Amino acid sequence: MSTAAAPRRAFVLGGGVAGLAAAFGLAERGFRTDLLESRRWCGGRAFSFDDKLTGERLDNGPHAMLGCYHATRALLRRLGTEGLFAHDRALRMAYRTDDGRVDQLALRSWPVPLAMPFGLFGLQLPFGTKLRALWGMSTVAWGARAAWTLQDWLRARRQHGAPDAFLWRPLCRAIMNVEPDECAARDFLATLREAFFGRAGTAAFMLPLRPWGEIFGDPAPAALAKAGANLRTGARVVGLERRDGVVVAIVLNDGERIEVGPQDLVVSAMPWFALKSLVPDLAAGFGALRSAPIVTAHFRIAEAAPALPSEGPVVALVDGDPFHFVLRTPGADARAFALLSGGNRIFDGMSVAEIEQAARAQLARHYPGVPADVAATVRISKESLATFVAAPGNRALRPVPGRLPNGPSNLFVCGDWTDTRLPATLEGAARSAQAMLQRV
Ligand SMILES: Cc1cc2nc3c(=O)[nH]c(=O)nc-3n(C[C@H](O)[C@H](O)[C@H](O)COP(=O)(O)OP(=O)(O)OC[C@H]3O[C@@H](n4cnc5c(N)ncnc54)[C@H](O)[C@@H]3O)c2cc1C
Repeated sequence: MSTAAAPRRAFVLGGGVAGLAAAFGLAERGFRTDLLESRRWCGGRAFSFDDKLTGERLDNGPHAMLGCYHATRALLRRLGTEGLFAHDRALRMAYRTDDGRVDQLALRSWPVPLAMPFGLFGLQLPFGTKLRALWGMSTVAWGARAAWTLQDWLRARRQHGAPDAFLWRPLCRAIMNVEPDECAARDFLATLREAFFGRAGTAAFMLPLRPWGEIFGDPAPAALAKAGANLRTGARVVGLERRDGVVVAIVLNDGERIEVGPQDLVVSAMPWFALKSLVPDLAAGFGALRSAPIVTAHFRIAEAAPALPSEGPVVALVDGDPFHFVLRTPGADARAFALLSGGNRIFDGMSVAEIEQAARAQLARHYPGVPADVAATVRISKESLATFVAAPGNRALRPVPGRLPNGPSNLFVCGDWTDTRLPATLEGAARSAQAMLQRV
C-alpha cells in the first residue's frame, strides 16, 4: 500500500503585511502553513487601537497608499478589503505655508509625465521657480550616483528654495520618512519613477475610509482559515534552534518548542531588529540598518470650537517643523484629523505633553484663526522604529527576499527592509513576500 507524502510545513514568523502575504502564498502552494504572530492581532505596523481619551478607534499612524501598490492591493483582495479605500483618479494634494497661505497641486487624469507640467504651472509660485521645478522633475529618469543623498541631487539640479520646499521635501518625507540629507537619491528617484511615470491613477492616493485594523487585522483570521493557513497570535518567537545548517526548532516565549523538519520552511517576516536578536551571527549586514521615527498627533476639535478649514485629505505643511502633514479620512468629520511628522528625531526624549504643545503651536501657525489652546482632545502616537533608513549604501545591507545568505538552508526572509528596491512601505513589504515566494 503506498502512502502519500505528508505536505511540507511552512512556519511564517510575523503577521504584518509581509507575513500575511507570505502565509497566503505558501498555503496556496500546498504548504501546511502556520503563521506565528507575537501580538494578539495581525497587521504589523498598520494597526489600530481603541483610544480611551476619545473613545475612537485610532490608527497607530495614518498610512496612505498609492494606486501603484499592486502587491498590497492583491493582499487586500485576499482579505476582502480593497473596497475600503477612496481612490482618486489623479494626484491631488494641498500645501499650507506657516502664514496660512494655501495652494493645490492637482494633476489631470492623464499619464503623469503629461499632467505634471500643467500641475506644476497651476501652483501660485514665481514662473522661474516653476520652471526650475519642472526641470528637476524632467531629470528624474536620469537617476543619481550611488553615493548621493537626495540633498546632493537637489543641489546638482538647482532645486533649492521653493522647488525643494513645495515639491521635493514633502515627497521625500512621505516616501522615505527622512530628510533629503539622509536618504539615498537613487532609492527615492526609483520610487518616484514607478509612481510618476505611469497613468494618473498609479500616482494617486488610495486613502482608507476605515481604521487600518479593519483593513488588515480584523479580517485576517477568517481569511487565513479559509485559505487553509493556521494563525497563532500571542506567539512570540524567542529562539531558532539550528543543527547542521538547518533550523530544527522554533522556540516561543512560553517555552514551547516547535519541531521543524529538514524539508520544512521557516520564513521570517519580522522587522530586521527582531530577526537580528534570533540570528545575531548572520546579521552583520542588515543588523547595521538604522531606523527613523513617525510621530502622530490625533486631534478631535470640540463641537463648540471653530473647525479647521479642510483642503482635502492630504495637506503638506510647507517648511513644517516639527510636523509635516495634516491627514484626514476622506468624507469623515472635518474636526478629526492627524498631524504627522516623518523621520524627525526632535521628539526623542520629549514627553507626550511637550509633543502636544508643539502640535498645537504648529496648528496655530499654519491655520491662523485656530488658537493653540483650541478645545480639542489630542492623542499622541510615537513609533520610534517606524521605518528603516534607506541611506546611501544601505541597499548592500538589505538581503534579497528569499534564503538568508550563509544562513540555514530552510530559513527564508521577507519584510519591507529586505532588498525590494523600495523604501519602507506597505508595498515594499507585500512585494518582498511575492519575491520570496518565487525562490521557495
Ligand atoms: C506610523 C507609521 C506610518 C506609516 N505610514 C506609511 C504610509 O503612509 N505608507 C506606506 O506605504 N507605509 C507606511 N508605513 C510603513 C509600513 O507600515 C511598513 O513598511 C509595513 O507595514 C511593514 O510591514 P512588514 O510586514 O514588513 O513589517 P511589520 O509590519 O513590522 O510586521 C512584522 C510583524 O512581526 C511581528 N513580530 C516581531 N517580532 C516577532 C517575534 N519575535 N515573534 C513573532 N512575531 C514577531 C510584529 O508584531 C509584526 O506584526 C508607516 C509605518 C508607520 C509605523
